[in-house]
Amino acid sequence: MWFVDQQTGTLSVTMQPEDLPVRLSSTQSGDEQRLRLVVEAAPNAMLMINASGIIVLVNTQTERLFGHERSELLNRHIEMLLPERYRGRHVGLRTNFFAQPVTRFMGEGKELFGLRKDATEVPVEIGLSPVESDGEWHVLASIIDITERLRVDKVRRATRDDVFRQLILDSLPFSTIATDINGQILTANPAADRLLGYDRHELVGKSALVLHDTKELKLRAAELTEPGLEPIAANYQVIVKSGSQGMADEREWTYVRKDGSGVPVNIAITSLRDDAGNVTGFLKVAYDITTRKRAENYIRHMAHHDALTGLPNRALLMDRLEMAIRQGQRHARQAAVLMIDLDHFKRVNDSLGHQIGDQLLLTVAKRLQGRIRDIDTVARLGGDEFVVVLNEVSGRETLTALINDLAALISDTMLIEGHELAVTPSIGGCLFPDDGVDAGTLLKHADAAMYQAKAIGRSNFQWFDNAMLRATEEKLALGLALGHAIERNELTVHYQPEVSISDRQVVGMEALVRWSNPMRGEIEPDRFVPIAEESGLILTLGEWVLRKACRECVEIQRELKRMVSVAVNVSPRQFQQKDWIATLVNAIAESCITPSCLELEITEGMLMENPEESARKLHQIRKLGVKIVVDDFGTGYSSLSYLTRFPIDKIKIDRSFVRDLATDAADAAVINAIIALAKSLNIRVIAEGVETEQQHSYMFERGCDEAQGFLYGAAVSSTAFAEAVSCIESN
Ligand code: C2E
Ligand code: MG
Ligand code: MG
Repeated sequence: MWFVDQQTGTLSVTMQPEDLPVRLSSTQSGDEQRLRLVVEAAPNAMLMINASGIIVLVNTQTERLFGHERSELLNRHIEMLLPERYRGRHVGLRTNFFAQPVTRFMGEGKELFGLRKDATEVPVEIGLSPVESDGEWHVLASIIDITERLRVDKVRRATRDDVFRQLILDSLPFSTIATDINGQILTANPAADRLLGYDRHELVGKSALVLHDTKELKLRAAELTEPGLEPIAANYQVIVKSGSQGMADEREWTYVRKDGSGVPVNIAITSLRDDAGNVTGFLKVAYDITTRKRAENYIRHMAHHDALTGLPNRALLMDRLEMAIRQGQRHARQAAVLMIDLDHFKRVNDSLGHQIGDQLLLTVAKRLQGRIRDIDTVARLGGDEFVVVLNEVSGRETLTALINDLAALISDTMLIEGHELAVTPSIGGCLFPDDGVDAGTLLKHADAAMYQAKAIGRSNFQWFDNAMLRATEEKLALGLALGHAIERNELTVHYQPEVSISDRQVVGMEALVRWSNPMRGEIEPDRFVPIAEESGLILTLGEWVLRKACRECVEIQRELKRMVSVAVNVSPRQFQQKDWIATLVNAIAESCITPSCLELEITEGMLMENPEESARKLHQIRKLGVKIVVDDFGTGYSSLSYLTRFPIDKIKIDRSFVRDLATDAADAAVINAIIALAKSLNIRVIAEGVETEQQHSYMFERGCDEAQGFLYGAAVSSTAFAEAVSCIESN
């Protein structure tokens, strides 16, 4: 049967499976005539061929479609209407078709083309229906030109893709900007607008140059000409690396926002190409790396700066110093290194707490930084150590004023959380190239000079000279020798009598360690105790003194046939040690000393370090029956009333107050106040360093309980102690 498709307007001849093929015969010429009419009236091209492939019938639409006259088509092979490439195969198909004639459609889903007279091709779909005419099989072909349908399909598909693409683009979290070859912006997605602070579509039409910092483009020009990088355009030199798959490499860049501010981005630029492979533009996908950058910068900053003051740390200082050296070498100029250490800073830290100590360091840092030039460097090495590197220096003399200024600035009183504080600096300096030509040596030499400044009484300045090196080396050697001192029996403990002021009776003694080295002779505890503190050796040394003092005290008591106390100095390191109380208990047990005869001398600083923990420990010690004495009282910053928080039995007024008693009214006033307050708090007072009768009388008049000093006797060995006692008491 045939019918006209309402939708496409084409005539189709179809057969249902159960349908019989259309049969036309000359006897039924009415049928054939009707077929001709129908075919002619069909809105699409139709033609009929016989089993040999000869065209026997065409309609006007066929003429129109192929551009041939009817006469040019009739009696010709159907293959003339096919492009050359189909022809051979088509003959075979045709033969097969006639062997088993059934209705078929061709061209649906795959491309099929007809050949026009002008040699152009036309996309078609073909319906084939077998028709029996005059007892012979024919095929009626219905040919539909699908050019328009393909076009519409393509447009529809393209539109769908576009919408899809736009959707993706709009929802992408990355700034995505497409430009033409000249860097003119063609599209920008909302993420780009957001990142750059533009309103929607505002970027379109602008030059992508507005997104860049000209300075950066210039600065990184070298990067732009790397081999393998091709310039986007002459005036727009942000570069693309077109990898093998057209993939762009990622690089860090700065985008400039509408408001002029910069934002660090990671950017990947891909070139857009047309079908012929020519670059037509660029796609720039970028994302904000501010957070990452900030983290990186922070880490970099932390690696090079001191967390408290923000000043360069040792690593950066070394860099700067090396730079100064290189510049000095190039321009034959000098540079200076100053090592600054604050005197007695530890006391501030210990007595007022780290927070105030930190504030003090911060103030010093600011003051130093405010005084130096931009080309100079102030660094903090840690603790209370600062280093100043001065560039382009001409001689030591020219620096005197600056160094005095720095010292004055540091020494200037500062008010921190209600405390009026003053610290003085000890400064050591050295010069490049005179005192060293590398950073390590210069620092070492400035350090040696600073130690010298401290050694000769602090609060002063010293230029480096080679003799100072020996002092530092000496210190190291001393530390090494001290390590062997105990096992080699070089240490002893001497005892200095402590007397009751009212009757000059010996009531106790202070245990003081002594070191006698075969090579070096007698070494002062003021020299080696700090070294032992630094190295940690004080733990072994302290325990050894404690045990020995307990044992020898018992022996002395036996000899004197009366109770005397022994005061043992305890260093901060020992006091902080966890199992120190156990050490103490052992020493008592092993010596059988009456615990109340044992006094422990601690300093104010040790209490302030960690007040709660200190109080807990002191109470534990007190429970054992052992007494607690605060040594060197008055040199710290703590007030007596602060000390009431701790269980204290006695305070020992520092010998510096006693020494200046006669000449310094302020010292006398301090002593008066200490004694008066201690009495009211029921704490005993002992004066240290009493050398004269005058000092003794003063203490006696103020009501001081005990005294210790050369007036009564210096420290002696345990075996000589009883003799010293009888000497004092017989006077
Ligand atoms: P310190 O605990 O303040 O000891 C008192 C110091 O003053 C002793 O110095 C003593 O000899 C000295 N001295 C006593 N009377 C007078 C006097 O009338 N005039 C003067 N100018 N000085 C006097 P030494 O023995 O040189 O000890 C110095 C410091 O070494 C001690 O000061 C103490 O801090 C430390 N030390 C000594 N032995 C030990 C120890 O066994 N362990 C610990 N941790 N430190 C110790
Ligand atoms: Mg002492
Ligand atoms: Mg003392």
